[in-house]
Amino acid sequence: MNATSVLNARTLGTEPLADVHWAQSTQPAPACPKLDGDAEADIAIIGAGYTGLVAALSAAGDGRRIVVLEAAPEPGFAASGRNAGAVAPMMWGMKKTPAQITASFPQHAPRMNRAIATSGAFLRDFIATHGVECEAHFDGYLLAARTPDSLAKAKAAHEGWVQYGGRFEVLSQQELSRHVRTDAYAGALRVPDAGYLNPLSFSRGLAAAAQRASVTIHCGSPVLSAKYEDGVWRLQTPSGVLRAATLLAGMGAYGGALVPRLQKESYEVCSAIVATDPLPHARELTPGGMAMADLDDAAVFAPMIDARGCLVVSMLFQGDQMSLADAERIVRPRLARAFPDLGAVPFTKFWGGKFLMTTDGAAHLLQIGPNAFAAQGCNGMGHSIGVAVAHDLGRLGAGAAAEELVFPVTLPKPAPMHGLMTGALRRVMAPMMNRKLA
Ligand SMILES: Cc1cc2nc3c(=O)[nH]c(=O)nc-3n(C[C@H](O)[C@H](O)[C@H](O)COP(=O)(O)OP(=O)(O)OC[C@H]3O[C@@H](n4cnc5c(N)ncnc54)[C@H](O)[C@@H]3O)c2cc1C
Repeated sequence: MNATSVLNARTLGTEPLADVHWAQSTQPAPACPKLDGDAEADIAIIGAGYTGLVAALSAAGDGRRIVVLEAAPEPGFAASGRNAGAVAPMMWGMKKTPAQITASFPQHAPRMNRAIATSGAFLRDFIATHGVECEAHFDGYLLAARTPDSLAKAKAAHEGWVQYGGRFEVLSQQELSRHVRTDAYAGALRVPDAGYLNPLSFSRGLAAAAQRASVTIHCGSPVLSAKYEDGVWRLQTPSGVLRAATLLAGMGAYGGALVPRLQKESYEVCSAIVATDPLPHARELTPGGMAMADLDDAAVFAPMIDARGCLVVSMLFQGDQMSLADAERIVRPRLARAFPDLGAVPFTKFWGGKFLMTTDGAAHLLQIGPNAFAAQGCNGMGHSIGVAVAHDLGRLGAGAAAEELVFPVTLPKPAPMHGLMTGALRRVMAPMMNRKLA
């Protein structure tokens, strides 16, 4: 990106990957030629983001023929390749408790709560099992609280996850200062089964692992229509047709109207990210090498020093049009508060993406037709909850019975006042959150 283009207002979420910070230190994308002509599979998967690729890996084996169709030129082009990279289990962003999950899903709650509480450890094992290259750092994640009261509340909320396998420790202000050079916080929770990774590398690593497991991936192959005819799904792309007995959908917030029943199931949320080049004194900021989030910032302020010593900061924003100046108005005051000595470090990368939120804060497995299922609503926690539900989606596609799964399989049910809420989220709620501290 040149100096001019980083300054321009842009539509975030579909910029070329060259504009995304993570592309600077990632292995090449595996070759995934477009679908050409007619093909058959046992399982067809739409979308080569985390959902589609994790589902493919979890369904692979026993000679099953699995084909993934991806609209973009390469895997991980959408939210999966351009997110903030934090691995943080236990729903810190959604602030949901096990009791709330239990109230919404009484039958599945014990399994769901366990999966959510241990989703960081699950991801670490999944990466190791499938040999996924992704620059993962599982050194822990810090949830920093500005006041003793806020720290006490966070501790009480996290204690609910312990009986389900969730782990955390409380750090005093002094203990926190060994990990992060700041006295802006009263203390923190340290979550050990957590950390960060390079999301584009993770996407490409998942795609390569899926190919090793004999999954076929066709990029540049948008599914234009999906029809169930004579007991078989028929997926039409511009240059071919794929027929499969089972259909799995992992289209995230990028699916448009392909499956109308899915479109009104969740709310689309936009998030923007800025990053610097490597900073000479980066490690002095976070000598513990851990990613962190500010528990008391509704705009989800989560600064991180990545493996190359670059500062990466993500934020919610209004609409999908934003300029670097808009982003700086949100980020600079927060950085100045947390790290007064940092100064006005220049941001050289600026990009964004879209993900889906559900009204109940949980991810969902949805039956969208005969032998057709979708996973939706990672709620901004793709590495933890998103991977856990995508694993279930793959098992479902491979024939697992519903009672063997962690997440319930339900029918799509349009979210109440979908249009109004979507507008409100974009135009009112995100800017309100962002103004809180600016
Ligand atoms: C800016 C940002 C920051 C985030 N930060 C974090 C974070 O720090 N930690 C975390 O855990 N999570 C984070 N998330 C959430 C995480 O990125 C998502 O949960 C996850 O990537 C969702 O994966 P997915 O596969 O469901 O969707 P996507 O990655 O969006 O993939 C969907 C894919 O489906 C394809 N597709 C859609 N329609 C079609 C079609 N008709 N035919 C073929 N292909 C199609 C799209 O091209 C796309 O590649 C963040 C998200 C954003 C946007």
